[in-house]
Amino acid sequence: MSVVDRLNRPLRSLRISVTDRCNLRCQYCMPEDDYVWLPREDILTFEEVSQLVDIFAGLGVGKVRLTGGEPLLRRDLPALVRLLAAKPTTRDLALTTNGILLADQAKALRSAGLHRITISLDTLHGDRFKALTRFDALDAVLAGIREAAAVGFDSVKLDTVVVRGVNDDELADLVECGKTVTAEVRFIEYMDVGGATKWSPEAVVTRREMLAMLAARYGPITPVEEESSAPADRFRLRDGTIFGIISSTTEPFCRSCDRSRLTADGLWYLCLYAQRGVDLRRPLRSGASPEEMRSVLTSVWQQRADRGAEVRLAAAERKPFIPIETLQREPHLEMHTRGG
Ligand code: SAM
Repeated sequence: MSVVDRLNRPLRSLRISVTDRCNLRCQYCMPEDDYVWLPREDILTFEEVSQLVDIFAGLGVGKVRLTGGEPLLRRDLPALVRLLAAKPTTRDLALTTNGILLADQAKALRSAGLHRITISLDTLHGDRFKALTRFDALDAVLAGIREAAAVGFDSVKLDTVVVRGVNDDELADLVECGKTVTAEVRFIEYMDVGGATKWSPEAVVTRREMLAMLAARYGPITPVEEESSAPADRFRLRDGTIFGIISSTTEPFCRSCDRSRLTADGLWYLCLYAQRGVDLRRPLRSGASPEEMRSVLTSVWQQRADRGAEVRLAAAERKPFIPIETLQREPHLEMHTRGG
């Protein structure tokens, strides 16, 4: 069964945050000194996540991505991967990680049935990595990337948030790094999502600028023609290397968005920019039947008209989306809680 929203968009993909905790403090995501964390007792168990995934599958969701926070901080994550991978409805099971703990966990995740992995890598300079994330962990991330490449995932991707004056001189070096591990690199425009309290329009390097920088180094770049609801537009260099650009800030793709997000404590968000989520933990824990849950999800999705990134683009004066005081009152508005 496939359910569509008011803009005729099907629900196909669910991003599940398995923890709001992170072991980095990236300037574009978690730049503050203190955060309000979700209460431990509210965090969904693996069994509860699995039940919800079954309910979402009934609405047409076959793509699941585990994220966070940093998902590899969640104890025994391969057990959840095993539960989800065993479902005949799970067509695609992926994970987004900062890679720090990956060298130790890649093999177990692959054996548990994880199909694809995306690793965040913003710089190849140790000192920049430390300045950007507050931790001296680039070598651990690179070891994680090498191990991911070695254990044979269906695909390994490297995601870079490009920030002006921070890492915008490294685009070609990152493409070259991707080639060494057969990973597709994707450049993400800096977004003004909740949590990006240091965001400014000037710090955004646009897709157009990125293409110009890469063309200066590699010569002509050709778009890859494909029908896809994936967030990245893909491009080919003359030597055949493919890379992607996720231009959520300057050229949003809300019209083809088939994604929604589940927080670690079971709130369901229909848009990265949504201010309110639907609490699925409460009905689940109070014994609602799968049919009851499915009918709630269906009617919520059918009413969906969100076009968060397009609405932000149309805003006359753009500054960080959510002020710090509001984030402290409502941590669900944070990107790291909602799951990137
Ligand atoms: N900890 C994991 C990681 O680092 O990949 C998963 C969670 S992280 C929130 C998921 C993705 O969101 C990462 O690729 C990160 O770079 C991206 N992200 C976070 N804040 C962003 C922002 N302000 N603009 C664009 N992308 C952002």
